[in-house]
Amino acid sequence: MHNAMNSRTAALLSAFSAHATKDDAGTINAPPSASFGSLSLPWQSIAASLDGDASASLAAYAQGKRKIGKEVANRIADCVMRWALKNGATHYAHWFHPLTGVPAEKHDAFLARGIQSSHVAIEQLPGSLFLQSEPDASSFPSGGLRSTHEARGYTVWDPTSPIFIRAEGGTRTLCIPAAYVSWRGHALDFKTPLLRALDAVSREVSAFVNTVTGTKTCTGVIATLGTEQEYFVIDKTFVALRPDVVASGRTLLGAPSHKGQQLEDHYFGPIPPRIQCFISDVEQELFRLGVPVKTRHCEVAPAQFETAPVFEEVNAACDHNALTMDVLRRVAERHGLACLLHEKPFAGINGSGKHNNWSLATLEGENLLEPGAQPQQNLRFLATLAAVLHAMAVHNDVIRSTIASSGNEHRLGANEAPPAIMSVYLGSALDALVRAVADGKVHTVEELADLTVTAKLSARRELTDRNRTTPFAFTGNKFEFRAVGSSANCAWPMTVLNAAVADSCRVLRLRIEKKGGAREKATLDVIQEVFQQTSRVCFEGNNYSEEWLKEAARRGLSNHTTTPAALDVLGKPDAVAFIVELGILTGDEIHARHEVFAEKYVKELQLEASCLTELATGYVAPAVQSHIARLGAAAAAANQSGVKSKKFAEEMEALVRRYDSLGAAVVALERTRAEVGHDARAIADRLRPAMNAVRAEADALEQLVADDVWPLPKYREMLLCGV
Ligand code: ADP
Ligand code: MG
Repeated sequence: MHNAMNSRTAALLSAFSAHATKDDAGTINAPPSASFGSLSLPWQSIAASLDGDASASLAAYAQGKRKIGKEVANRIADCVMRWALKNGATHYAHWFHPLTGVPAEKHDAFLARGIQSSHVAIEQLPGSLFLQSEPDASSFPSGGLRSTHEARGYTVWDPTSPIFIRAEGGTRTLCIPAAYVSWRGHALDFKTPLLRALDAVSREVSAFVNTVTGTKTCTGVIATLGTEQEYFVIDKTFVALRPDVVASGRTLLGAPSHKGQQLEDHYFGPIPPRIQCFISDVEQELFRLGVPVKTRHCEVAPAQFETAPVFEEVNAACDHNALTMDVLRRVAERHGLACLLHEKPFAGINGSGKHNNWSLATLEGENLLEPGAQPQQNLRFLATLAAVLHAMAVHNDVIRSTIASSGNEHRLGANEAPPAIMSVYLGSALDALVRAVADGKVHTVEELADLTVTAKLSARRELTDRNRTTPFAFTGNKFEFRAVGSSANCAWPMTVLNAAVADSCRVLRLRIEKKGGAREKATLDVIQEVFQQTSRVCFEGNNYSEEWLKEAARRGLSNHTTTPAALDVLGKPDAVAFIVELGILTGDEIHARHEVFAEKYVKELQLEASCLTELATGYVAPAVQSHIARLGAAAAAANQSGVKSKKFAEEMEALVRRYDSLGAAVVALERTRAEVGHDARAIADRLRPAMNAVRAEADALEQLVADDVWPLPKYREMLLCGV
């Protein structure tokens, strides 16, 4: 039996023999501009192909100024359909973001009966169906927003995110980005509150800026977002043999690979040919979809990579990130690979995040977080900075709650990702300025001299250094919200962050107005107060250190290391009142999200625990039994030969003890699983440790048992072979 090739070895050989699908020298990709946006249709392009009146109506609609009439809707829909047909689409779908976190779509053919004869088919997309569609809402999570018998929900075209055509499996489908609400008008998705938050930003931030500058020149503000998406890629064949990866997107057990990330040789290393082929295909597809994907590189862990786009307006950027994740998964399949977007696919090496680079810009195109050469004199910048610090201080717990998930729990607080304490890093130059303003001192930020590299080479220096241990960093002219998880729909953290900043802008504007007197003096006074009051959220040191945990506790900052604890704040009306007051979500809608997120956590952990039990009993235990049998036979043979050996007995002892411990840990896990039921807190506090206990035994056994009887692909194989 031991000589026959087992499925794991077969998978290994298959992964090893897989190679790049294109030969490097012969392939020349078209430049991005050749295909960029060929399968994408922003409203501006639709408007450009309509006549004057219809075009103006659409522009007014997209800018939220006017509703759209039936006749214009028909013409828009017809124009969109003709574009889709020209590009080979046969079907259309509203593409929306229910609270599952996975984009949803229901396809319909552009099919109508002929006017002359019902046996004749024609293509048609009526305006009413284009603007709005009615998927059955009953099977999406609603968090109690509707009862099971109230199934009606509507998806509504969002003109501010470009329409696109998905080309997959030999068919092309027109995808229409949409918001999703219940028959009673409750937001059932991630997009609706985001759009409302962005309206609040435009309203409140521009009013704030005009108050600060004493002008009326700011006519609106947009938030901008660039997402750095981290992901793992492994050979797909391995996944077939890992029920844990199939079920939960991560490995629930597995001993460390000898070669992990300790040599630090993967980060920014040469991209392996097979992966390069995959990434190039992803990029070409994203270019066609109008996603401005720009950066690619190898990340810290083996088999880990990153992609980042050029930033866009937040709503489009969120949709484009969801699309990027979708394309990564689909293209990986075609390449015989699996793209793992989970925050922690492999224990012991880095997990994956999604840094949300965020800023605010006026409609006139000016970045409000651009400090300029002399930030100390840039009142608008200082005021905007004060508003962000105020938001992080006042809405700290709510912002923390938006990144809570079972996957991200493995990162936050572990030594590789920012801790679960929400603090802000400003960098030494800006930090010094903020402290000086707080103390009422005059302070000038000095421009840094160029660095001398060699006699001939010099480098320009930024104002600030970087700090990769912080969850929220100022990086030159934007903030980087680094604590978001790789699998997240970033619309939710973006909704709350933008809402928090809009709220703070409102609060600070009222404070400035209340002070009265000279505008500049009143503004500076408020900025000074805010810098004093928010110093507790500013931290420049090493966020991974023990000292910071103690210091943060002294400062009264929360450190919620589990998802249910972090989500609790959503149940506190005072804490979430700003979201309600800004018209972003009602109390019921927030309560619903609390329910849905907590429920998701419960289900994911219950699923993982049951899968782990199966792995332990159905895979690990039988492998140990085979090894025990083999060892027993060998010991008997040795015994028969008359040569005494202590080693056999020692090995047997160690193996059987571990086997027993594994069995006991599994029994404890199953008992705990039954006891905790659907109690999220108990799951976090008791089920997770019970799972860790099983894992510890299984991983130790992996290192004791003969390689040829181990059924599960090992870490060293998945991480280093075939990618
Ligand atoms: P890093 O050096 O931090 O890894 P990357 O180049 O990988 O940076 O990503 C930085 C991201 O920040 C990009 O997506 C970039 O477009 C985005 N970005 C730059 N300026 C802004 C801005 N004003 N608003 C939002 N995002 C921005
Ligand atoms: Mg980066």
